[in-house]
Amino acid sequence: MAHVAPMTETILSRARPRPARPRPASGRSRRLASVEIESGRFRQIMGRFATGVTVVTTIADVRPQGITVNALSSVSLEPPLIMVALDRRRFITPMVRELGRYAVNVLGEDQQALSDCFAHAAVKPGREDFCGAAWHAGTTGLPLLDGAIATLECTVVETFSAGDHDLFIGRVDALDDGGAAEAAVGPLLYFRRRYLRIEQAADAPVEGKPEA
Ligand SMILES: Cc1cc2nc3c(=O)[nH]c(=O)nc-3n(C[C@H](O)[C@H](O)[C@H](O)COP(=O)(O)OP(=O)(O)OC[C@H]3O[C@@H](n4cnc5c(N)ncnc54)[C@H](O)[C@@H]3O)c2cc1C
Repeated sequence: MAHVAPMTETILSRARPRPARPRPASGRSRRLASVEIESGRFRQIMGRFATGVTVVTTIADVRPQGITVNALSSVSLEPPLIMVALDRRRFITPMVRELGRYAVNVLGEDQQALSDCFAHAAVKPGREDFCGAAWHAGTTGLPLLDGAIATLECTVVETFSAGDHDLFIGRVDALDDGGAAEAAVGPLLYFRRRYLRIEQAADAPVEGKPEA
């Protein structure tokens, strides 16, 4: 038995070291101060981060359901993962949890009325009637809004609870640009809690390394 131990050691030392999973830091520091943040001020400051506007859709009791969301992020390229953050009090959050599937519909500049309706504006037809929106079933069967400039159909692979929101990590099963490339439709934007559209686009090349 004495000769077995060194052999095992050699094999172990050749094994590729796995990067250690980072442990969450306590955030405590003698040099850094922490202060109480008032939620209204937090919203005001985060409102300076311009985003697009999406409607997250799912299915409950064989009916399409949707809600306006701007907390969307690309998470991973391989595999393709995205994240949407939904307040746990939203009517749709338990539906997404239950089905484990959702679609993201990126709204075009001409879809402001849909953004308002899916954010529960007092309009008819209302959100209970899917805002009277024209839609079709995507590749996976999830409801997709006609005219969206991009759509992603996802399966939930992880869910995190963070504060008052649930973060749904979705593996992208299908995606489409809805023909927007040819139609040259711009995005609906959200900035300082108001809608914006791009009227004079001045684009410039990115000098830093882009995401891929
Ligand atoms: C540009 C923009 C971006 C946004 N981004 C986000 C985001 O990233 N994440 C996010 O969470 N929110 C986001 N919101 C907010 C969200 O879209 C709306 O605030 C929300 O839909 C308001 O609806 P509500 O007041 O009915 O609240 P909800 O939370 O949708 O509903 C409150 C309660 O009403 C009842 N209810 C409402 N509708 C129904 C229904 N159809 N069937 C049964 N019961 C119902 C339920 O009991 C529910 O718990 C965004 C809004 C806008 C305008």
